[in-house]
Amino acid sequence: MRSVIVIGGGISGLAAAWELRGRADVTVLESHGRVGGKLRTGTIAGITVDEGAESLMALRPEAVELAAAVGLGEALCDPAKAPTTIWTNGALRPLPAGHVMGVPTDPSALAATGLLSPEGVARVAAEETLPATPLTGDCSVTEYLAGRFGREAVDRLVEPLLGGVYAGRAERLSLRAAMPGIAALAEQGGPLLPALRRMKAAGAPRPAPVAVQGVAGGTGRFPQAVAGACGARILTGTTARALRQLPGGRWRVQAMTDDGALTMEADAVVLALPAFAAAELLRPHSPLAEAELSAIPHASTAVITMAFSRARAHYLPEGNGFLVPPVDGHTLKAASFLSNKWPWLAAAAPDTFVLRASVGRIGEDDVLARPDRHLIRSAITELHHAVGPMGEPLAARVTRWDRGLPQYGVGHHARVSRIREAASKLPGLALCGAAYEGVGVAACVATARRAATQALTSWP
Ligand SMILES: Cc1cc2nc3c(=O)[nH]c(=O)nc-3n(C[C@H](O)[C@H](O)[C@H](O)COP(=O)(O)OP(=O)(O)OC[C@H]3O[C@@H](n4cnc5c(N)ncnc54)[C@H](O)[C@@H]3O)c2cc1C
Repeated sequence: MRSVIVIGGGISGLAAAWELRGRADVTVLESHGRVGGKLRTGTIAGITVDEGAESLMALRPEAVELAAAVGLGEALCDPAKAPTTIWTNGALRPLPAGHVMGVPTDPSALAATGLLSPEGVARVAAEETLPATPLTGDCSVTEYLAGRFGREAVDRLVEPLLGGVYAGRAERLSLRAAMPGIAALAEQGGPLLPALRRMKAAGAPRPAPVAVQGVAGGTGRFPQAVAGACGARILTGTTARALRQLPGGRWRVQAMTDDGALTMEADAVVLALPAFAAAELLRPHSPLAEAELSAIPHASTAVITMAFSRARAHYLPEGNGFLVPPVDGHTLKAASFLSNKWPWLAAAAPDTFVLRASVGRIGEDDVLARPDRHLIRSAITELHHAVGPMGEPLAARVTRWDRGLPQYGVGHHARVSRIREAASKLPGLALCGAAYEGVGVAACVATARRAATQALTSWP
């Protein structure tokens, strides 16, 4: 049987190991003391909650299929039904009915939300009358959508959603990579409003699936379950430091562990790493891949988890949480009311209300430089303004995700093509992870499936 070393024990590496089960002898190297990467649980006030990703995209199959395959089918659960709200203009306001990634389809529904000024709504409605502007190359989300719908619509509708997914800014993110569905319509050039309405209408007869699902007990259980089921040898506390291709094509990996250096060999290697970590290992093999991977910017973020006593809190919010547009100048990027959103959590801790706030978008390093106690204090103050005076939490904790989210800048697709082309010249080497074709867990699993196939087929 062929041997494969998977470097990186986040969900991408583990999904690759799962895909290779029974077809290769697999070893996963993970530098931390436990697998999972950005999927992990922690405890607050004795309650287990997610500290990283909290949901899996359910509109595409890869993540929920894998969760079911590794025994978590029964644990998959829908979030409580509640509208996505934006904290802006002094209130929580629902996104307009029919929007697509924040892009409105119905100006009168938009007007009713109070999200935009009357002039902003009129500018959106005027989109239907603008001359065609077919998208040819790539451009930023702001460049294309502000030209069609006005800057206010981008700032208050689209930007908060992109902040939630990428911790990114619309003026820097690629329309093609961050909003591929909108980009496909933009290629046709005509007004987007009627095109989006037609698209929605065509989808209407299908039953509306839930957009995301969680895992009872925490989405952080997911990588543990994959690790347990994939049959791979998993070495935690093991950091790959160097890669070498031997005459004949096998790969040698040099790693460091707490007990000293470790050298291993295999027929193929899968790099399931953040772009900057993959770049380091590829430096001696492909200067082009190294340079392109190093050029992918990353946003750092922090998650501030707080637990409140239901009996003692002055006030507890309704709904699942809110997103915040940066144009309003608040520190918060988003808040998720975990005890409202996830029924399993409310059942597990009925006396406690748990929420998490997140801060940090690309370019907001000054926010993240603040000490934990400052981040907690500003989160409490802003939550007070957004939803009401909740009082002091029983416990609060900050989890920092340094360079946690890759940014898909203008030209990202072309950059990824160059990286993949360069990597294809290294037989027996495959790449997967959040840097390439989507940052969400489902997209990561999709890249892992392809990397596993490549590791078995691209042979020296
Ligand atoms: C705060 C936050 C919230 C998120 N929320 C969601 C969400 O709700 N839904 C969603 O779909 N997505 C979400 N995402 C995105 C998603 O979680 C990540 O993109 C995805 O988990 C990345 O998985 P990965 O395996 O590619 O990378 P990682 O999780 O980064 O795993 C890479 C692993 O490689 C290890 N490693 C690094 N260098 C080495 C080395 N040299 N040797 C060995 N090991 C190494 C790391 O320790 C790490 O464990 C969120 C991301 C963040 C930061």
